[in-house]
Amino acid sequence: MSDTEVTHEIPPISFEFFPPKTEQGRAKLFDVRRELSGFNPEFFSVTYGAGGSTRDNTKNIVTSIHNEGAQVAPHLSFGGDTETAILQLLGDYQAAGIKRVVALRGDMPSGMGSSLQMVYANQLVALIRQHFGDHFHIEVAAYPEIHPESKSFDSDIQYLKAKFDAGANSAITQYFYNPDAYFYFVDACAAQGISQPIVPGIMPITNFKNLARFSDSCGAEIPRWVRKRLEGFGDDQASLSAFGIDLVTDLCETLLDNGAPGLHFYTMNQTEPCAAILTNLGLNGI
Ligand code: FAD
Repeated sequence: MSDTEVTHEIPPISFEFFPPKTEQGRAKLFDVRRELSGFNPEFFSVTYGAGGSTRDNTKNIVTSIHNEGAQVAPHLSFGGDTETAILQLLGDYQAAGIKRVVALRGDMPSGMGSSLQMVYANQLVALIRQHFGDHFHIEVAAYPEIHPESKSFDSDIQYLKAKFDAGANSAITQYFYNPDAYFYFVDACAAQGISQPIVPGIMPITNFKNLARFSDSCGAEIPRWVRKRLEGFGDDQASLSAFGIDLVTDLCETLLDNGAPGLHFYTMNQTEPCAAILTNLGLNGI
């Protein structure tokens, strides 16, 4: 475990937020954003709800962050929307001066049954390039432990390649706690001709039950020994947080030492765990 600070060359860092539903959550998010801006992130990103359920909320938060002078990337997926609605949204982002998007297929909105035709991310990337040329830097999602619906390891990499072939610039991964999975995946991507950056997504650990539930649904593995440690902390939040910060610091250190091109943090709209990890890494932005 890391108990001393190590210094790395400053890699690009980015922070992901979700759009809060309440005024209080929104006010907190803007405090968190300002605190995290001390780490000189390359950009912030804001997630998008299935079926466009947070479309306006995402757009409002993105616009406010942009107006504060920060680089911001809205996440975007078709969900239940029409092509016209998606192009309108992208046009609004372009007009506002937003230059980066995270293009996703997303998941089936609940209650839509199987009536909805999902638009794969490679199709969305192609649509953005067709209508907006090179205006946007396009990020896409990648899955070192393989997307849960994927037919096979190889086909998932082929579909990632299809996103790059359609014009994506870089990828951000689903989170993982086993760095070998990431490096094996990056090597497999390189063998298939993918040369664009694949930035690891980093999920700090703050709550075991939520993490376990979400990991089961999105196909991210929590190694057995980590699961056992986290379970063992019970209600001892301070020990769980300290363990999580050490574990994720070590993960980030291994990733950066072995050539990861940056770090993208799933902040869960919280400053503290990301700030502690980055400070441990000597990436305190100063
Ligand atoms: P795709 O790349 O389209 O892949 C989906 C599945 O279909 C995969 O199994 C793939 O192998 C397969 N596939 C891909 N292309 C084809 C094709 N052309 N033909 C047949 N099969 C294909 N979800 C949200 O709701 N909102 C968010 O803001 C959000 N942000 C995310 C950010 C990151 C960095 C990541 C890693 C995930 C995010 N997600 C978000 C979750 C994401 O929407 C889900 O994982 C979703 O199930 C897949 O989206 P995708 O863009 O990876 O899909």
